[in-house]
Amino acid sequence: MKVLVLGAGQLARMMALASKPLNIELRAYDVGSAQVVDPLSPGISFGDLSAGIEFANVITAEFEHISHQVLAQCEASGKLLPTSQSIKTGGDRRLEKSLLEQAGVNNATHKVVSTKTDFDDAIATLTFPLIVKSALAGYDGKGQWRLKALAQTEAVWREVDTFIKEDTSGQSQAVVVEQMVSFDRELSMVGVRSKTGKTQSYPLTENHHTNGVLSVSLATNEYQSLQSQASDAFNKIANALDYVGVLAIEFFQVGDALLVNEIAPRVHNSGHWTQQGADTCQFENHIRSVCHLPLGSTDLIRPTAMINVVGTDSVPDSILSIPSVTMHWYGKTKRAGRKMGHINVSGSDKKELLYRLQQVAKQLPKIDFPEVSNYVNQLL
Ligand code: AMP
Repeated sequence: MKVLVLGAGQLARMMALASKPLNIELRAYDVGSAQVVDPLSPGISFGDLSAGIEFANVITAEFEHISHQVLAQCEASGKLLPTSQSIKTGGDRRLEKSLLEQAGVNNATHKVVSTKTDFDDAIATLTFPLIVKSALAGYDGKGQWRLKALAQTEAVWREVDTFIKEDTSGQSQAVVVEQMVSFDRELSMVGVRSKTGKTQSYPLTENHHTNGVLSVSLATNEYQSLQSQASDAFNKIANALDYVGVLAIEFFQVGDALLVNEIAPRVHNSGHWTQQGADTCQFENHIRSVCHLPLGSTDLIRPTAMINVVGTDSVPDSILSIPSVTMHWYGKTKRAGRKMGHINVSGSDKKELLYRLQQVAKQLPKIDFPEVSNYVNQLL
C-alpha cells in the first residue's frame, strides 16, 4: 500500500513513522516547493503532484489550507480520503458553521460577515463581548479580533474590512462574528471513521494554550460524563461529511454542556498524547482508516500529557531520566513560534502523571515554556 499526504510537516512525518510497521510506504506533497518528498528525510524529491498521484493508492491530507486546484486534481484520481469537501470545510469557518448547524451540533451563536451591512447586523443582533474570526486560513488564534464594547466597532471594522479586501487566497474572504463563550475549560476530542462508517473516539483531552498556541494537553479519562456528548458530536459531523480518517473537534465546556469551537479534518496536535497513552495512536488509526484496514482500539491505556516545544530546538536531556517521558522532535529548523517537537509524559494513574509532569516542568526553561509550570501546579 502507498499513501501520499498533502502537506509535508510534522503530521505527515508522524503518519510516516506509524506507517512503517504496517509496511505502508508514505510520501508527502510539500505545497511550498510543489514537490513530493519523504517526510522522514525531506531533501530528496520524487517529482511533482502528478508523480505523487501516480505513486499512491490513497491520498490524504495533514492540513486543511490546501489550494482547491490541488484538491480537485487529487479528487479526480478517485484516491482522496477524506473528500475535498471535508478538507475545505475545515479550512473555511463559513462551511464549518453551516455543517454544525445542519448536523444539529451545539456551537457559539454567530453571524457570517462580508460587508459593513452584515457587520452592523451582527453587532445589533449579538451580545458583547464578541470575537471576530477570519473565515479562511485562520488558525492558532491568527486573523482574530476581540470586540468588547460598541465603542470599538468602527475601529475593528476598519481592520476587518482591510483584511477582507487585502486577501490574496483567490477565494472570497469573510469573517465570522461570534459570541464570546464564558467557558470552564477547553477540551478536544479526536475520533476516527472507517470507510464502512464505523466510528471510534479517543477520550476527551483538556487543553491549555499560551499566546493562542496549544502548550499542554492532558488525557486522563476523567471527563466520562461529557464523553458521550463529544462522541455524539463526532458521529454527527463525521457522518454528515461521509468522513474517512481521523478528525478532531475542539470544544468549550460550559457547565455540563459542550459547544464545538472548531473542527480539524486531520490528525491533531491535541491528539499527540495517543502515541504513548492510547492503544493505537491517532496517526496509525488515520492510516488504517484511509487504507481500509480494521481500526485499532482508541482506549486510553495510561493517563498521558503532551507538552508542545515551540520556537526552541533544545530541552534539557535530563527530562529523559524521568520514567515514561518521551521526546518527539520534528527535524525542523528553529524559528520563533514554530512547533518544533513535543514531550509526552505518562503515569500509571493521574497522581503519578501529575508528579512526573511537575518534575519535567521544573526542568524546562521558563523562557521557552512560560506557562507550563504554573499550569501544572494548578492541576496538582
Ligand atoms: P480558534 O482559532 O477558533 O481556535 O480560537 C483561538 C482561541 O480563542 C480558542 O482556543 C479560545 O481560547 C478563544 N476563542 C475562540 N472562540 C471563542 C469564543 N467564541 N468564546 C471564547 N473564546 C474563544
